[in-house]
Amino acid sequence: MPAPPCTSCHAARAALRRPRSGQALCGACFCAAFEAEVLHTVLAGRLLPPNAVVAVGASGGKDSTVLAHVLRELSPRLGISLHLVAVDEGIGGYRDAALAAVKRQAARWELPLTIVAYADLFGGWTMDAVARSTAGSGRSRSCCTFCGVLRRRALEEGARRVGATHIVTGHNADDMAETVLMNFLRGDAGRLARGGGLGSPGEGGALPRCRPLQFASQKEVVLYAHFRRLDYFSEECVYAPEAFRGHARDLLKRLEAARPSAVLDLVHSAERLALVPAARPPRPGSCSRCGALASRDLCQACALLDGLNRGRPRLAIGKGRRGLGEEGPQGAPGDRAQPPASETIPAF
Ligand code: SF4
Repeated sequence: MPAPPCTSCHAARAALRRPRSGQALCGACFCAAFEAEVLHTVLAGRLLPPNAVVAVGASGGKDSTVLAHVLRELSPRLGISLHLVAVDEGIGGYRDAALAAVKRQAARWELPLTIVAYADLFGGWTMDAVARSTAGSGRSRSCCTFCGVLRRRALEEGARRVGATHIVTGHNADDMAETVLMNFLRGDAGRLARGGGLGSPGEGGALPRCRPLQFASQKEVVLYAHFRRLDYFSEECVYAPEAFRGHARDLLKRLEAARPSAVLDLVHSAERLALVPAARPPRPGSCSRCGALASRDLCQACALLDGLNRGRPRLAIGKGRRGLGEEGPQGAPGDRAQPPASETIPAF
């Protein structure tokens, strides 16, 4: 049976039915609708003001690839400039290939690219070194717990280096719904309240962050990448299988099978929760070591690195900021010939 005509242009044959609305669209009309919805999200949420210098967190994966492409299409209308910022977590056999995809994107779209590495920012620690150090230690934290905190900090540092005024990340609606489920299952009321908006306004000196794809489903992100023939890296990180997020993803799939609106329902629930005054977290202060935003004495990154560096000199995060030490587990800068951090640091 031939495909029905596109319900938007009525000229071409429909190539898909939108998962959310069931609307039959051709590839061109779907991409135009997708871009218009992202534009609406940005404008309605006042996420990126004219003249903003926007650091796009680029991982080489489908979400950040689609985000960078869509924002590049929209940048003349929004009056913004883009800079790709990629984070090298130091994950052998995975991140190198993903970074190669980011480099191809930067060259193809003629966008500036800056890569910041955990090893340089966090005194020699890479995710592979963290994984070796924590293996068999009996700690309940998975690699992704460390990585999530360190990557957030690394992206902030990278964005500052390029003079960005705003940070955007490619989290889609499914990512957001998984995060809501995870925070709910952990009983983390603070994160539930903080995570509900379209981003963070940049409290405590941090750069404002936002998620323009927050209402776009994962299926539509993949469809957009397909119709725009985007080149992205699609392999899963070697540490992903141990992440708690995988359980939330399985649960979300079952919820969605029973209630197709479950993903957006969760995203909107978190939005409403963020508006409840009693649910809002107290105004955070700053980390006593590095000056970053923190709700306790130390920010999350410094607290995690403290555990990794137990018995070692204090670790430098973002050299030059207030109260930072100069040496990490590999010693002073220039001592890179030292043994890998994981072999010199006692496991916790
Ligand atoms: Fe980091 Fe986990 Fe993502 Fe791998 S899956 S890049 S360890 S957060």
